[in-house]
Amino acid sequence: MRRNRKVKILATLGPSSNDAETITALFEAGADIFRINMSHASHDLMRELVRTIRGIEAERGRPIGILVDLQGPKLRVGKFKSEKVSLKAGQSFTLDGDATPGDETRVQLPHPEILQALEPGHKILLDDGRVQLKVTEATQDRAVTEVITGTELSARKGVSLPDTTISSGALTPKDRKDLEAALAEEIDWIALSFIQRPEDVAEARKIARGKVGLMSKIEKPQAVERIDEIIELSDAIMVARGDLGVEMPIERVPGIQKQIIRATRRAGKPVVVATQMLESMVSAAVPTRAEVSDVATAVFEGADAVMLSAESAAGDYPVLAVEMMNSIAETIERDPNFSQIINAQRAAPEATGADAITAAARQIAETLNLAAIVCYTSSGSTGIRASRERPSVPVIALSPVRETARRLSVVWGCHCVVSEDAKDIDEMVDRACRIAFSEGFASPGDRIIITAGVPFGTPGATNLLRIAYVGSDGQSGIF
Ligand code: PGA
Ligand code: MN
Repeated sequence: MRRNRKVKILATLGPSSNDAETITALFEAGADIFRINMSHASHDLMRELVRTIRGIEAERGRPIGILVDLQGPKLRVGKFKSEKVSLKAGQSFTLDGDATPGDETRVQLPHPEILQALEPGHKILLDDGRVQLKVTEATQDRAVTEVITGTELSARKGVSLPDTTISSGALTPKDRKDLEAALAEEIDWIALSFIQRPEDVAEARKIARGKVGLMSKIEKPQAVERIDEIIELSDAIMVARGDLGVEMPIERVPGIQKQIIRATRRAGKPVVVATQMLESMVSAAVPTRAEVSDVATAVFEGADAVMLSAESAAGDYPVLAVEMMNSIAETIERDPNFSQIINAQRAAPEATGADAITAAARQIAETLNLAAIVCYTSSGSTGIRASRERPSVPVIALSPVRETARRLSVVWGCHCVVSEDAKDIDEMVDRACRIAFSEGFASPGDRIIITAGVPFGTPGATNLLRIAYVGSDGQSGIF
């Protein structure tokens, strides 16, 4: 089974889609990788979902990616005496460490380190920005604020601090437990929420010990400021527009999205665009024109993957949302402007053997109109470098390592197949031709280009390029 698009689809699982039947339908409709959100899933549910997805993977014979998203330091206010309080612009409102239920004048902020970090002038946003406060007076254990925009506020609402750098790391005690539980399962990616600095990624990397890829969610202004260093330390990036649009002026999000996609692509790492892409499909069978255009923009920008959140996790039409995303992606990638835009943004290859070879492979494949680029890649790095070239022809990544094939599920244009390493060049050519044929990328008489590293089985040594004919029976012919 092959997809007819390069961009990948990441679908979040949740109450609307946690059953095997729906997950199978989402996969068939186009989901390449699934997100399990630890803000809502218990360890038992996470394990059950992983087992279900691996079952579908075995049944369908295609690698499927699994991303476990850690909640991160999501801050919340405490409880109130009444169900809600009403805050009015101009009034004073205090956040403190006192667990006594709050009222119109104060409420608990049960994060002592945050109370310490707040300074006069800092903005505090409650409930996705519906309530805006400005700190007027700050001590070690309380912050007095002025209400700038008020409305009703109820217990446990989220708190965003666009101006405050929090001294604690990005992993909360809950995140650490969730991460350990996730690492014990067959998962491929961990998403890190609300990271602020490169050190936050480094901290998670120590625990992850290379078992999974680390995807940094960019949803804080502090992370945007240090984006290059964060990209450098991460294996992938997510433009997490939901919280980014609360923490920053919402009109800055599209520009930042472009900036992050370009910087991440230049670094040759996968980048995901997330949140509200088809939001109205939570309750409607068709999206708005603006949403279709939003997905199209991410595809035109060459993002590696587009993500569905509530649409697939909690909406009424999870499968339709994936189908819609799939058809937008297929249609945009056939648009005459698509390849022009992609070509205009290609970054120069870096001075490595793998980059030089994959850049040459793309040029040859496009010049000779070849059917596919077939990369032998054990760690996945050559597959990712080939994708960085954003070739117009398909990339087939062959890896003997199942985990590599799964991890590449989020990478633009990579069709991954688990396949043993070849023993010699004849077998390498033969195997590449047969797989390109059987996976539906090449017909008899077509030519493909193959990249590999000799001696075979040495990771990180891509040094060979070979053009081959696909013979009448799908075997390699002579060129
Ligand atoms: P979330 O992250 O769905 O976990 O909040 C994505 C975002 O903030 O955009
Ligand atoms: Mn978020």
